[in-house]
Amino acid sequence: MTLVEVAVPLPLFHTLTFLAPPEQPVERGARVLVSVRGRRVVGVVTGPTPPDSRSRLPERTAALRPILRVLDGGPVFRTDLVDVCSWLADYYVSPIGLVLRAALPSALGAAAKPDPATRRRRILAIAQELPTLTARDGAFKRAPQQRQVYERLAELGGSAPADLLLAQLGVSPAVVTAMAKKGVIRIAHEELSRDPFATRPISASPPVSPTAAQRAAIEALTTADAGSVTLLHGVTGSGKTLVYLEVLREIVLNRGRTAIMLVPEIALTPQTVDRFRAVFGDSVAVLHSSLSDGERYDAWRALKSGERRIAVGARSAVFAPLENLGAVIVDEEHEASYKQGEAPRYHARDVAIVRARAAGAICVLGTATPSLETWQNVLDRKYAKLELKDRVGGGALPPVRVVDIRAAARGPVAAADRTVRQVLSAELDAAISTRLERGEQSILLLNRRGYSAFVQCGACEWVAACPRCSISLTYHRTPERLICHYCLHGESPASACPQCGEATLRQRGLGTQQVERVLGERYPAARIARMDVDTTSGKWAHADILDRVGRGEVDILVGTQMIAKGLDFPNVTLVGVVDADVGLNLPDFRAAERTFQLVSQVAGRAGRGPKGGEVIVQTRQPKNHAITTALTHDFSAFAAIELPMRQSPAYPPTVRLANVVISGTREDLVAETAIAAGQWMTKAVAQVPAGALELIGPAPCAIDRIQDRWRWHFVLRATRAGALTAVARHFLTTFELPNRAGLRVAFDRDPVSLL
Ligand code: ADP
Ligand code: ZN
Ligand code: ZN
Repeated sequence: MTLVEVAVPLPLFHTLTFLAPPEQPVERGARVLVSVRGRRVVGVVTGPTPPDSRSRLPERTAALRPILRVLDGGPVFRTDLVDVCSWLADYYVSPIGLVLRAALPSALGAAAKPDPATRRRRILAIAQELPTLTARDGAFKRAPQQRQVYERLAELGGSAPADLLLAQLGVSPAVVTAMAKKGVIRIAHEELSRDPFATRPISASPPVSPTAAQRAAIEALTTADAGSVTLLHGVTGSGKTLVYLEVLREIVLNRGRTAIMLVPEIALTPQTVDRFRAVFGDSVAVLHSSLSDGERYDAWRALKSGERRIAVGARSAVFAPLENLGAVIVDEEHEASYKQGEAPRYHARDVAIVRARAAGAICVLGTATPSLETWQNVLDRKYAKLELKDRVGGGALPPVRVVDIRAAARGPVAAADRTVRQVLSAELDAAISTRLERGEQSILLLNRRGYSAFVQCGACEWVAACPRCSISLTYHRTPERLICHYCLHGESPASACPQCGEATLRQRGLGTQQVERVLGERYPAARIARMDVDTTSGKWAHADILDRVGRGEVDILVGTQMIAKGLDFPNVTLVGVVDADVGLNLPDFRAAERTFQLVSQVAGRAGRGPKGGEVIVQTRQPKNHAITTALTHDFSAFAAIELPMRQSPAYPPTVRLANVVISGTREDLVAETAIAAGQWMTKAVAQVPAGALELIGPAPCAIDRIQDRWRWHFVLRATRAGALTAVARHFLTTFELPNRAGLRVAFDRDPVSLL
């Protein structure tokens, strides 16, 4: 009789014991069909049952349950990947079965039989225009969800993929079926190519030979010890991508190993992918969030079989089923998007390090602006460091000028210029005009989409807020809507203040739409493009805008943080930061770090060609160290000021944090439960060695309601990682959450945001 441990996709922090079929060996990492609580589920075998732990039988019954079927004729997980997932489950205190499921393509995680036949995707399109509110009131009487779908579609330009839209709005497919029956929308089917990146012709760029600095980095990385981690700190434009390509060429083509290349989701553009495909052709598999289940499954299988040997992708590509892994490269390692926002809340950079170690591969973390966590590890000599100090071709980093917009606002301004001056200082205005005269291009960054930040009453200070979230609504101009960026709730702006009745509502704060409009009025002949979440919802919209900029069809590109990365256009000679303070005032200990990163990254977009370039940063806080050090592109100067500030109060990298959010639909119960959890935690903290753990809170979250759920949280601050793991696990397995009002606990270790 052989007993094995099986991780099932249920919120359990332990595996379950099952009886292996006598005639068939059951390997570690194999998918198996089992029955739990009367339901058939697909689990993954994590190993043989240790002799002393037969107590953990399903449902604590004495009878041993058999494995019903072994699937796939071989393990889907290699043993080192099972180890990585077990580490992840342990460290992030996540149910092991859910971790393993997240590591598999959904075609293998959900159903017993993979059904990779989804080659088509449904597109919703407006069939009947309802331009007036009266028409919409009539069409959607008592159907608010239909109205929501309609209005979102209208905002997105009339059509959108059904799955994305429904997921965004949290609406069931029945809603769109009903709308199609009414004739207001049309459901079309779009054929999907199995590998959407394969359809683009590869633009062959002439081969380049590495510079001396690049060659030194390539040499160091290809001779680095197995399991070592190296920070590749290279200023923007220093040619990090060529270093990655050459390292991969040596490790994959010459040594016959495999590799994972992680890039932030937003940087996973066809342009990026082309650079890898140009060198490695069909050895590359791209893992992208917009792949259908079938496409994802195909990519996974090609990697598993060894047909493709380099996985390029965002976050989840860290689980690529590769054997003989030789390198894991994480580009833009500081990016917050490497953190998964829902359970299991892992940080892909940190999983990458663990995975590389388990496989005996090298790990490379590349960036121009390292995270302070990584920097501390370099200072502690846990990670090696390589530097690319100069731009390729000797181009200087562009000079950066600061414009204090407090002073600018006080200066004399003609009434006609007032709206312009709220967006563009005289300096920025003049710089843009010069670019237009010379036929050069400009990029303007404002990290806030929409038209204005919020709508406020000038008489009573009332602010238009989301009825379901504690957050102000963002004013959008085309079409005119107030939208909550947390839950996508939308409403029409009122003409008078609902609180005092005065017609004194004003738009406050700037958004990208307003910048776009002001630019259009100021420079009527200029060709302006805007890039933010609202203009890039279509699959290729993002790439299309960039292609237009590359072909010289855009004079001014306005956008959110999306435009700060990876863009490399030699004719862009001006970068303007419209308001550097947008992120600086957030109640987040990383506010300065994020601002430094954003300003440095976007500054790096200027002057990439022989014409050079300049950067103008508008701010009300010109003395803030995030701004002053970004001006000289000096990361180590920033870190030297910022690191001591993280010591008291202590924040990462000085300590480790976990954020524990308790949410539910009733405010009183959420508060009560959070306070009880805090008392539980106070006792637990008293039992670990003094100073190892500290409890902060509980208190309401900074955003204390999202989508009708009230939110409280407490933060654990740890000087010992092990104490944090143990206490959190004990809390999550024993603290009794009342089964009422949808109460939930979310545990987030190494959070990227505490809001
Ligand atoms: P980073 O990612 O470090 O900001 P990139 O990898 O995008 O920089 O490189 C910046 C530019 O320099 C790109 O246009 C790239 O093609 C070019 N480049 C990189 N290395 C070389 C080289 N050795 N010779 C010529 N051009 C290079
Ligand atoms: Zn009012
Ligand atoms: Zn909301």
